[in-house]
Amino acid sequence: MSISSSVLAQLMQVLPDWRPQMFFKTSLVALSHAMEDQVLAHTDGPLIIATFQQERFYRQEAHRYRRIGEQSDQVYVLAAPETDFKHGSGLYESVAFDPNDALSQEWHLVVIGDRYANCLICRERTTLEPETLGLDMDSNRRFEGIWTFNRQASCAAAIILLDRILHYRPELTDKIAAAKARYLNNSCDLTLAIAGADESPINYPDPFVNRLVSYLQVGQYKLIKAYRAIASQEQKERLIHLMTTAIRRSLDPEEILQVAVEQLGHGLEACRCIIYRCSATDNTATISHEFLNTDIGSLLGKTWALTDNELFQQVATQLESLFVQDLSPDNQAITDAVRTMAQRHHIGSWLMVPVFYQDRFLGMIELHQCRPDHLPWTGEQISLVEAIANQVGVALIQAEAYANLEDLNEQLAALDRTRSNLVAITGHELRTPLSTIQVCLESLATEPDMSPELRQVMLNTALADAERMRKLIQDFLTLSQLESGRVEWNPEPLLIEECVELGVSNVRSRYHGSRIPNIDIQLAPDLPLVQADGEWFVEVLAKLLDNACKFTPPDGNIILVARQDQAGQITLSITDNGRGIEPNRLETVFDRFYQEEGALQRTTGGTGLGLAICRQIIQRWGGQIWAESNGKDQGSRFNFTIPIATTLPVTRVRSSSNSPRRSRRTS
Ligand code: ADP
Repeated sequence: MSISSSVLAQLMQVLPDWRPQMFFKTSLVALSHAMEDQVLAHTDGPLIIATFQQERFYRQEAHRYRRIGEQSDQVYVLAAPETDFKHGSGLYESVAFDPNDALSQEWHLVVIGDRYANCLICRERTTLEPETLGLDMDSNRRFEGIWTFNRQASCAAAIILLDRILHYRPELTDKIAAAKARYLNNSCDLTLAIAGADESPINYPDPFVNRLVSYLQVGQYKLIKAYRAIASQEQKERLIHLMTTAIRRSLDPEEILQVAVEQLGHGLEACRCIIYRCSATDNTATISHEFLNTDIGSLLGKTWALTDNELFQQVATQLESLFVQDLSPDNQAITDAVRTMAQRHHIGSWLMVPVFYQDRFLGMIELHQCRPDHLPWTGEQISLVEAIANQVGVALIQAEAYANLEDLNEQLAALDRTRSNLVAITGHELRTPLSTIQVCLESLATEPDMSPELRQVMLNTALADAERMRKLIQDFLTLSQLESGRVEWNPEPLLIEECVELGVSNVRSRYHGSRIPNIDIQLAPDLPLVQADGEWFVEVLAKLLDNACKFTPPDGNIILVARQDQAGQITLSITDNGRGIEPNRLETVFDRFYQEEGALQRTTGGTGLGLAICRQIIQRWGGQIWAESNGKDQGSRFNFTIPIATTLPVTRVRSSSNSPRRSRRTS
């Protein structure tokens, strides 16, 4: 059965005025070796009791104890067995104590000879000091206890340990009694041992030895400090490497923020770590990246107050890290709002590090500690978070630049498509009429005997094709300028009737009296004025009516309706009972150069740019345009919206037949 009481505690009870001191493991190794060497150097056969926490520690010293066992017949070695250490009597008495015994937390070496007595009674400290956190080093282990040449103390320690040995090996009663008789003045009682121990000779370590021990301890401190610096540098480099790898692997800022939040939260053992993107003037941010180490409640998806958080305001404006170690009501330096926020989210200590790039604030990294015994943030930890914040800043800017690049690429691709289309159109639309014009003109020039009728036909054909070319070039230029925003707009209150009238007459004049479907205009009574640029409005009406005429047989019908809708705007619809549009093409018809037959088989004329131009114009006044059709030969309806004017003055619309817009574009 194990004993739960500590030998050190028992000893301190009989030495109430003594104070244990702190020893590093390496110091204990050195002191123990010195004590063992002292035994090996003399031949007075002292009493030696050595306790090893584990069998493996004993193994490292087994050869020494074999030699020590040859020096004395009163040597006791105690260890918690792991593989084959067991009770035994040989060169020395071995005692395999229960691994649950308090002995497994302690380190003892007692030497009591005729001329000197010396003991080392220590207990391992289980709580780690802040400076040793993250250092996984055996030599870093710390013990507290006493190391002394005081004979009374050494005898008392020997009595406690001999009793413990007896507990495990009762058969050694006689041998232990002999030891007590020879080395401990037959004393079995602890207090008596202290009181009755012979005061002389008491050998205190001389100042030289004391100094040596101090140097040993100081050396170990320095070593730990150096290790700590190396470990923190190593952790910093590892995290930065992880971040760089994440940045190299992905240009997705969300993925990079997730890696950062997890690595930081984990690496710094924070209760919670959050990263969010925001500007310094945002009222709130939504938390979408979080590392959570305890059950203090997740902030994921929640709204995080920024304006009311004075700590955030300070960091975002000064671009410097800030931490508050004490958020208790006693801390008068923080505002009530901050304290309430901390209480609500169980934040015991708060570290905020800004993410910025070249003075541009991009977001925040926050680390929260919630345990009451949390350790203060160290300078190394803060500089580590700052290093990661730098990386995150670079990653965010890089991702932003990449997104811009993608936009540019898309624009370039669109431009390239336009160019290819233009080439295709040029191939057919420009070359075909040009060839016709050339043939007609050549015939007129080389055939002087041509009849006046034929001559007229030739001339009309050449003129018609020249007009087709002009229109294509004009539409193309119009669309390019609309798309690039290089168009001057003059929105004004307009009468719909007037614009519709101009649109219809525009179409009729295009068809030069050839037969077109009947156009029925149905305007709701008392329609309000609309707010638009009159010339562009007429242009839209003319293009849609022109399409309706093109794709509807001359005996068909076109109905133009205008009415005020529920959203407080005017919807105009142009319905025909012509060729119709396949349902899956209702959106595609608005693409540049889209024509159902394809550019090269067109029979109806046109450029394939009309609807694209209409959409550009309508979008400028915030309206929408869409097509409806039940399919082939089911007719089509084109609808568009236009806002109602809020001011009253009415402006008369000028006719757009002479392309007046040309003078209104900014170059
Ligand atoms: P286009 O100069 O060819 O008319 P648009 O951009 O105005 O160019 O129209 C694109 C295509 O949409 C037309 O070629 C046609 O296939 C289809 N379309 C437009 N309006 C109608 C309509 N009223 N009825 C049927 N199809 C239409």
